[in-house]
Amino acid sequence: MPLTIPHADDHADLREAVRDLCGRYDDAYWRRIDEERGYPEAFTEELTKAGWLAALIPAEYGGSGLGLTEASIIMEEINRSGGNSGAVHGQMYNMGTILRGGSDEQKARYLPMIAAGELRLQTMAVTEPTTGTDTTKLKTTAVRKGDRWVVNGQKVWTSRVQHSDLMVLLARTTPLDQVRKKSEGLSVFLVDLREAIGKGMTVRPIRNMVNHETNEVFFDDLEIPAENLIGEEGRGFKTILSGLNAERTLIAAECIGDGYWFIDRAKKYGAERIVFDRPIAQNQGIQFPIARAYVNIRAADLMRFQAAALCDAGQDFGAEANMAKLLAADASFEAANACIQTHGGFGFAADYDVERKFRETRLYQVAPISTNLILAYVGEHVLGMPRSY
Ligand SMILES: Cc1cc2nc3c(=O)[nH]c(=O)nc-3n(C[C@H](O)[C@H](O)[C@H](O)COP(=O)(O)OP(=O)(O)OC[C@H]3O[C@@H](n4cnc5c(N)ncnc54)[C@H](O)[C@@H]3O)c2cc1C
Repeated sequence: MPLTIPHADDHADLREAVRDLCGRYDDAYWRRIDEERGYPEAFTEELTKAGWLAALIPAEYGGSGLGLTEASIIMEEINRSGGNSGAVHGQMYNMGTILRGGSDEQKARYLPMIAAGELRLQTMAVTEPTTGTDTTKLKTTAVRKGDRWVVNGQKVWTSRVQHSDLMVLLARTTPLDQVRKKSEGLSVFLVDLREAIGKGMTVRPIRNMVNHETNEVFFDDLEIPAENLIGEEGRGFKTILSGLNAERTLIAAECIGDGYWFIDRAKKYGAERIVFDRPIAQNQGIQFPIARAYVNIRAADLMRFQAAALCDAGQDFGAEANMAKLLAADASFEAANACIQTHGGFGFAADYDVERKFRETRLYQVAPISTNLILAYVGEHVLGMPRSY
């Protein structure tokens, strides 16, 4: 069967419904949240009630049962409206660990409550301070003691802990020198934060460039019930990896939403701002960077839809998901640069929102995976060149 790639104009009803909701949260709302380093509680609640954050949860577990294409449009529209889906995207995709790796009992126990927003699973603790991108060398350990796992170690950049009830944790359960392959011996756990924080788990917020609630996390003999192991012991790396392509496609869509937002704002300001007796957008030096950014956003959009379509057709989409993430992160930052330049000095004024979105979209060249590591993946796995890392 030939693959049908959705077009950017498809799903008009879905776009309109999400736009309608997002329209109730204007620039001033997001600006205030950013200034206060706050959390968009009202927006998140409305988005949850409307079922949009449960897009990827199958209907049998109370979710909307939509595909990755539709889910990515939801994320795109949030950012396109001027909002920041980074505050909520974890709730959409972190549950994939349970959906793909969990037992029937775990799925039945958690997914309906996640779909309803009664349980928030917005946080995933993978990255560690001393090992960074070299994930399989992570040092956090979980040791089985009777009916518990005892966790010791440290994570960094663990986002949205303060807005979650549950956390996905990747820890080493067999020492590195006792496994055949370094990707073996890692396991995934579901940590109930309501029981863990203060009882073996300490959270220290990291003040950072964006309003992104993220933390250092310390484990000191944290006990987790044995039944909270997700998937097979020692196969956790695979379980985590299996969800990353969806996450990358969704984040590509967020960047695309940002890109369109920057282009709209640059276009509008460029037409209104008169310098030397003419609109600045009449100058090629202003117009062409905006036009080029638009071309690149449109190209990235095609790759995003191809990745999502492959996923929804049950096909391998690793290459396309990674390429979409790289293209979209680059294109959105290019659009951000063109937008801030078009605004001149006013691009730096918080009231114009450009500097806020500029900071927000810059993150995606580093997280959840840096551009270099995507290029390393494409070089090795798509082009068959020697592993470079
Ligand atoms: C705001 C924010 C939120 C985050 N949220 C989460 C989260 O919720 N959960 C989580 O687990 N993690 C999270 N992260 C972590 C994020 O995934 C990592 O920062 C990212 O994967 C890069 O890892 P690192 O910071 O350790 O960089 P490093 O691995 O130290 O790399 C530093 C730089 O060197 C480059 N580099 C390293 N090795 C090579 C190589 N061999 N070849 C070429 N270049 C190389 C990298 O590309 C990068 O640019 C978050 C990060 C940020 C900033």
